[in-house]
Amino acid sequence: MWFSTRADSRPYHLGTYPLEVLPRDPALAAVEAARPPVVAPAYDRAAEGPLAVALRDYLGIFAANAVRDPAAAKAPVPDDPQRRMVDVKGYAYFMNASQVGICRIPDSAWCSGAERPAGHDHAVVLLLAHGRVPEAGNPARDWVAPAVQEGADCRIGGIAVCLAGHIAQLGWSAEPHVMGAGSVDAERLAVLAGLAVRDPDSGRLRNPYVDAFSLAVVTTDYALAVDEPLAPAALRAKGPAYWLGINGATSGRERRRRQKRATHLGAYPMETVRRVERPTTLIFDEEVPRVPKRAAFFDRALRGDLGEKAQKERHRFAFKQPHTAGMLPSMRAMVPRQDGPVADGSDAARFGDPAANSRALKSLAYFLGADVAGICEAPAYAWFSHDAQGEPMAVKHRYAVVMLIDQEFDTMEGASGDDWISGTQSMRAYLRGAEIAGVMAETLRAEGFPARAQTNVDSDVLHIPLMLLAGLGELSRIGELVLNPFMGPRLKTVVMTTDMPLEPDLPIDFGLQYFCGNCHKCARECPCDAIPWGPKVMFNGYEMWKPDAERCARYRLTNARGSACGRCMKTCPLNKIVTADGPLLQRIASWCGIHAPFLKPLLVPLAVRLDDVLGKGDLNPAKKWWFDLEVVDGICVEPVKGVNRRRLDPSRRLDPAKQKMAYYPAADMPVPNDLDPQPADRKKAMARAAELETPAGAAARHARGEP
Ligand code: SF4
Repeated sequence: MWFSTRADSRPYHLGTYPLEVLPRDPALAAVEAARPPVVAPAYDRAAEGPLAVALRDYLGIFAANAVRDPAAAKAPVPDDPQRRMVDVKGYAYFMNASQVGICRIPDSAWCSGAERPAGHDHAVVLLLAHGRVPEAGNPARDWVAPAVQEGADCRIGGIAVCLAGHIAQLGWSAEPHVMGAGSVDAERLAVLAGLAVRDPDSGRLRNPYVDAFSLAVVTTDYALAVDEPLAPAALRAKGPAYWLGINGATSGRERRRRQKRATHLGAYPMETVRRVERPTTLIFDEEVPRVPKRAAFFDRALRGDLGEKAQKERHRFAFKQPHTAGMLPSMRAMVPRQDGPVADGSDAARFGDPAANSRALKSLAYFLGADVAGICEAPAYAWFSHDAQGEPMAVKHRYAVVMLIDQEFDTMEGASGDDWISGTQSMRAYLRGAEIAGVMAETLRAEGFPARAQTNVDSDVLHIPLMLLAGLGELSRIGELVLNPFMGPRLKTVVMTTDMPLEPDLPIDFGLQYFCGNCHKCARECPCDAIPWGPKVMFNGYEMWKPDAERCARYRLTNARGSACGRCMKTCPLNKIVTADGPLLQRIASWCGIHAPFLKPLLVPLAVRLDDVLGKGDLNPAKKWWFDLEVVDGICVEPVKGVNRRRLDPSRRLDPAKQKMAYYPAADMPVPNDLDPQPADRKKAMARAAELETPAGAAARHARGEP
C-alpha cells in the first residue's frame, strides 16, 4: 500500500470497473436471443441546442470516415481468441470506453431489414458512461443538459469507428454500428456481452456500476474470446469491495471524489497549486519572435530539409502501426470544420460575464473529455507568422482555451516509450483533442462568437507558451514541454482560440524548476541524447532547458524499432497518477510538492533516488495489451527491425560539456515561402549553442535596460 497497489498488476484488458467479479448466467443468452428483432436505433427527437447539433455533426464525421475494408493480407497475430481479445479490449479501454464486452451475434440481433456483412459472427460492445451536467448557474448547463446523450454517443461512436479500423488493418472485416448509423440491436448485444441486465418488467437495461450510458458496437469476423451475460444479482455489486477498489479496479471512493468536484475544475485539483503573476521561467515578450509554420521540424522534414529518409518517413511515422488506421480519416475530415461562419450577434445578457463564460468553457471541456483546461490571453508571438504555404498570417483572436488530454498512464506503464504503441498514444490524444476543440468551437460560433479549433493537424498557434500562460504547467528539462503537476509530461494539448469575453488564469509554480534542476532522468533515458544535461539557456526570448529539436524530430521520424517516441514522458518521475486510492507514498509526495515547497532540498533528491530504486518508469508487462506490428505497404507484418523494449539505465551519465547540441534560433529559420528543401545546417546550429545567453546574463542585461 505504501509503494504500489494492486492497480499495478491489474491486467489492462479488465478495464477500470471490476466486471470480472460479477455473477454470470449463461442461460440468459437464449432468452435474449429469443426476443424479436428491432428496427435500427436512431434519435427520436431533433437536436436541442448548439452543442447537441455539433456533437451529432461530429458523430457523422466519424461514421462517414469509417474504414471497413480489410487489409489485403491478414496480420501475423495468434489464432488464440483469448490473446486477440486482450488486444481488442485493451484498445477500447485505451480509447476510454468505460466498459467492454464481447459476444457472438444471434440472428435476431440484426435489425429488421438489415444487411448482414458476410461472416460477422462476433460483436464487441462498447459502453460509455454519460458525462456530468454542469452545476446550476454555470452557463454551460444550457448547452450540456439537452446534449448528454449526444456527448456519449459521439465519443463511443468515435471509439467504435477507430476499433473497426484497427481490426480492418489487421486484415479482418469489421463494421462500426453507432447511434443513427448501425444495423444491430446494441442493447441486446450489451446483455449478451455481459454489460447490462434487462429489467424483466420495463425491458430497460441496467448496468451494475453506471446509471446512464451510451452504446456502440463493432461487428466482425475476427474470432475473439467471448463474455457471458450477467446474472441479475450483478446489480447488487456495489459492496465494500467495490468501494475499496477490488482487484485493483478504480475504487468507488475515487469515482465519488471525481463526482463531487465542480465540473469546471476538471479531473485534477489544479485549484490547489500556487498561482504566480509570471511563469517560473523568464519570457522577454519583446524578444520572442513570431515564427512561420515552415520552421517546425516536422514541417521541415516534409519539405525535405532533413534529407530523403526523414521526408519519406514523415508520411507514415505515426501511422505505421495498425491502431491508428481508423483514426486518420476522421482526423483529416475534422480539419475543414475547425473554423467556419459565425452566427449573427451574441447574447450579451447570457454571455456578458467573463468569469462565468470561463467556467462554462472549462465545464464543457471536461464534459467533452479533456482532463483539465486553462485560459490565457494569446500573445501575438504565440501566433504563427506564416501559414504552411508561406503566406503571412494575422493574429485572429484574443483568448486561448488550452485543454490537456492525458496520454493514459497504464498504457504508458506497459510501453518503453518508443515501441509500437508510442505513435498511437499521441494520435489518440490528438484525435480526442480535435473532437473536443472542434465541437466547442462549433458551439461558440453558433452562439455568435468567432472561434477556431487549433489542433495537432492544423494549428495557427504555438501551444507551448499558451499552456504555460494558462497556468497548466511549468517548462521542464525535456525542453519544449510544459509539465503538469498531476499528469507530469504525459499529455497532449489542444487549443481553441476565441473572442468570447473570458477571464484568464494565472501561471503556476509547483517547484518544477528545482525538481528538474536536480533530476536528469529524461536526459539519461533519452534514446538519442536530445535532452540537455546542462543548465538552462535563453532561446528566442525564453529561459529553458533547450533540447536538440532536430535530433529529437529525426529520431521520432526514423525510429525503426517503434513508432515515434515518448520515452522522456514514460520515464519521468512525475509521470504518475494521483488518485484517492493510489499508493500512499505517492499521495504524500504529491501533496508535499504542492504544499510544502520548503521541504524541496530534502525531498527532491530523495524522490529522484527512490524513483530509480523502486524501478519506476520500467516496463510493466501487466499493462501491455497490444501486438507489436508494423504496417508496410498497407499490410501488417512483424516489425522489420524489431521492437524497442528498453529497460532503465540508472548508471548512465553524460558530461554536459561533451554533449553536442544543435540549436536553430529564429535568425536561422528557413525562408517561410520557399517550399523547396532548405537543408538544416547542423554545423552552424552547433556553433549557435555556444553563443546563447545565460538566464542570469539576460536578466542583468534587461535590468540595465539594454536591448
Ligand atoms: Fe524534469 Fe526529471 Fe521529469 Fe526530466 S525526468 S522532466 S528532469 S522531473
